[in-house]
Order: sequence, then C-alpha cells, then structure tokens
Amino acid sequence: MNATVIASSEVSARVNLLGMTQPQLEQFFLDLGEKKFRAQQVMKWMHHAGVTDIGAMSNLGKALREKLQRVAEVRPPEIVSQHDSADGTRKWAIRVSGGGLVEAVLIPEAGRATLCVSSQVGCSLDCSFCSTGKQGFERDLTAAEIIGQVWLAIKSYDAFQAGNRRVVTNVVMMGMGEPLLNFDNVVAAMDLMMSDLGYGISKRRVTLSTSGVVPALDRLARVSEASLAISLHAPDDALRNQLVPINRKYPIAELLRSARAYIDAQADSKRVVTVEYTLIAGVNDHVDQARDLAVLLRDFPCKINLIPFNSFPQSDYQRPSGNAVSRFWQVLVDAGFIVTVRTTRGDDIAAACGQLVGQVVDRTRRSERYRAAGQAAEVQAR
Ligand code: SAH
Ligand code: SF4
Repeated sequence: MNATVIASSEVSARVNLLGMTQPQLEQFFLDLGEKKFRAQQVMKWMHHAGVTDIGAMSNLGKALREKLQRVAEVRPPEIVSQHDSADGTRKWAIRVSGGGLVEAVLIPEAGRATLCVSSQVGCSLDCSFCSTGKQGFERDLTAAEIIGQVWLAIKSYDAFQAGNRRVVTNVVMMGMGEPLLNFDNVVAAMDLMMSDLGYGISKRRVTLSTSGVVPALDRLARVSEASLAISLHAPDDALRNQLVPINRKYPIAELLRSARAYIDAQADSKRVVTVEYTLIAGVNDHVDQARDLAVLLRDFPCKINLIPFNSFPQSDYQRPSGNAVSRFWQVLVDAGFIVTVRTTRGDDIAAACGQLVGQVVDRTRRSERYRAAGQAAEVQAR
C-alpha cells in the first residue's frame, strides 16, 4: 500500500467551468459577449488535455484568458489521499468544497477499468445494510465535483499527457449517495462522461445505480442514455421494506415498471437492466428467496449481480458463506439468468463495498480538524 497527500483546500467565488455541459458552457460564453465555439476549445483543454490553468489555454487569446480568469476557474475536487492496493485497485479520499469528504475507487479488470463515483456526501435513504446510509445526508455534490472524480482518476495516472484517457473505460454511479436524488448534477456529469468533448465513454459503459426513486427514474428516461442498475436486494415487498426503506413509497412492481420503461425508451433494443442483490446471511440468501426472485424477474430484461455483503462496524449483518452464495447463484442460473458475483477488490486498502468509513480516516491520518467535523466518507466500490 502506498499513501500520498496531494492537495490542500481552497474556496472560491468564481464560476467553475469543469462541470458545465457543452450547451451550458456555450451559454456562459454568449453571456460574456464571446463566441460560443469557445466552449469547445475550453472543453478540450479541460477534459482532453487535463488542463486547469486558464492562462495555459493558448488558443483563447491573451485578452480572453485574462477576462476568463477574473470570473471563472477550472477546479477539480482535492485529493486528500490516494491508496494503491496489491490487486491494482486505486482509491482516493476526495475533499469537496465546504469540507465534506467522499471516495472514488478505480478497479482494473481484464481489458477494462471501472471507476466507482460518488454523487452525494452521505445519503438520506438509510438502507439497513449500507454504511453511507448510517452516516445520514450532508449535501449533494456539484456536477464539477462528480465529473472531477473522473478527471482526477485520469490525472493520477498522468494519462492526459500520455493521450490515454482510456485508463477509465467504465464509470458506475455506485459510490456514496443516491444519484437520482441529485438529478440535475448527475445527469450533467454523466453527459460529460459520454460526450465526445468530455470523456467519450460509451453509453453502455456509464451506469447509474438507484435504490428506486421511481419518479426521478421516469424522468431520467427522457434525458439520459446511460445504462441502468437497480438495487433490489429482496424478492418481495415485505422484506424490501425493511432493507430499502424507500420501497414503502415506491414498491417493487413500480420500480420494475419504471426500469423497464427506462430501457424501452433507449434506442438500443438490446439493453438490459442490471439487478443488484446484496446477499446478507440469513436475511435474503435462502434458496427459496432465489426461487422467488427468479419468478419475480421471469419476464424482466435483466442480468443479476450478486454482491456478498461487506461488513462495517455499525452493522450486525453477516456475509454469507461461499457455499450459500453458490447455491443462490445456481438457482438463478438454472432458471436461465445471467448472474455475476461481485468479487471483493481492494481489500487491503478497505475499498470494497461498504468498508470504507473510519478506515480511510485512520489510514490516511486525516487532520484532527476533519475528525472533529465528522466528515468521514465511504463508497461502495466495484
Ligand atoms: N444509492 C445507489 C448507489 C450507491 S450504493 C444505490 O443504492 O443503488 C451502490 C450499491 O452498493 C448498492 O447496490 C448497494 O446495495 C450496495 N451496497 C451498499 N452497502 C453495501 C454493503 N455493506 N455490502 C455490499 N453491498 C453494499
Ligand atoms: Fe443510499 Fe444506496 Fe446506501 Fe441505500 S444503498 S443508503 S440508497 S447509498
């Protein structure tokens, strides 16, 4: 493991250009009395070249650069610490303005590298197995703070300079927070991930995961082409009400209806929903529950991702045995589903799902000021 302290804090009143979509940035330049094609130039500097110094954007002209520097800036969030796992997983603790802390994790696998991105500091939805939920909600991340996680992951490998932004091939909105409760900023950031003037990642490789904020998911279908994952975790409403409290408001049938409508709205007819199912020993891992799940999802276009529960100090839940996971998996496979089991990565740096609170704090020896403010964070990495 190797830890590095990289940056310190700064607060600014200037407009941060990093999180603006192309139409927003074009409007910004028009409002400044400038031509809108400047937006494209600045986007290439920020997202293709990794440049944050407006003064170095040489094709803008000196007068425009000076004007821009007075009102705007390009400011990614700050890396408090970076850890490399023996298995190649890299994890960052990231400070956002106001002092909150979130984490991002990059998980390299054969032929790809998936960045797990946070959308909020904390989460208000309080799922019973999730340590982010236990922390409560602090605030939404800005679009700049969300896309900034992609920016700094690429930067940390010096990959902008090398012309190889493909060190991040996939993004999953599966870090801290419920992305659909920070709708506009998440949609803007995902737009930047997928657009050519941003990071050019295919829409199949940018995935939003939701616990089921149905009205927002219905809305998302009208504005986004990203892939969709839903956090189901139970085959029936009685159990899901206990695990995922928002189910009391938007029960399973509503969620499946909305998720199906989401993929039906996509031009690409081959798409499926990823169903996430965190397996908790003695709670939702019985073979009868696997059979019920198979019945529930019989006609639903999906693949299933089983996530063995990752323990954390405030939880009494246990991870099921390998045998229990296999038995659950087998029932679903026999029923004809495509089922993956998420392997735990980055264990030595506490980067796995739900493992991170506290350990981040201890291992990076954050300042007492931070501790006092209780600005701990976590992420569920994949
Ligand atoms: N709020 C969104 C995205 C963040 S959570 C959502 O709930 O979908 C991302 C995934 O991590 C969810 O599927 C969640 O079930 C899973 N997760 C949370 N805590 C976990 C834990 N302790 N062990 C295993 N998976 C966990
Ligand atoms: Fe929030 Fe997702 Fe955790 Fe539930 S599982 S508390 S929605 S981050």
